[in-house]
Amino acid sequence: MNRYEKPLPTPDIETKEYWKGCKRHELLVQRCKDCGTYRFPPMPMCPECNSINREWTKVSGRGRVYSWFVVHYATHPDFVDEVPYAVVLVELEEQANLRIPSNMVDCKIEDIRAGMPVEVVFEDVTDEISLPKFRPVR
Ligand code: ZN
Repeated sequence: MNRYEKPLPTPDIETKEYWKGCKRHELLVQRCKDCGTYRFPPMPMCPECNSINREWTKVSGRGRVYSWFVVHYATHPDFVDEVPYAVVLVELEEQANLRIPSNMVDCKIEDIRAGMPVEVVFEDVTDEISLPKFRPVR
């Protein structure tokens, strides 16, 4: 595995299960055990019913591009060689308003469209961290 020089996520008590799932190439989303609402990012309390009962649920990893923007100017030196690149907001198929920010792979910036079907892929960047990214469904 090549040395990965970019900033890495630091899993904490709320996010460590998410990152463990990514390492197994499974996309996990927190779900309220009382009302069933999915939520992202992870948080201690359900925004719908205020319950603190929650579980991690494996989701399909499929969704659609809800929105995106293109970064032309790197605000962090480690991303200078990446620009221009797209940041996409993917709405997962499990629930309206369940959206995850990520990057697109295997897709030119000019080919990104609102509503285009995408699926998750995982990039193994270190022994501990795999990053979820999205590519067009073929
Ligand atoms: Zn709830």
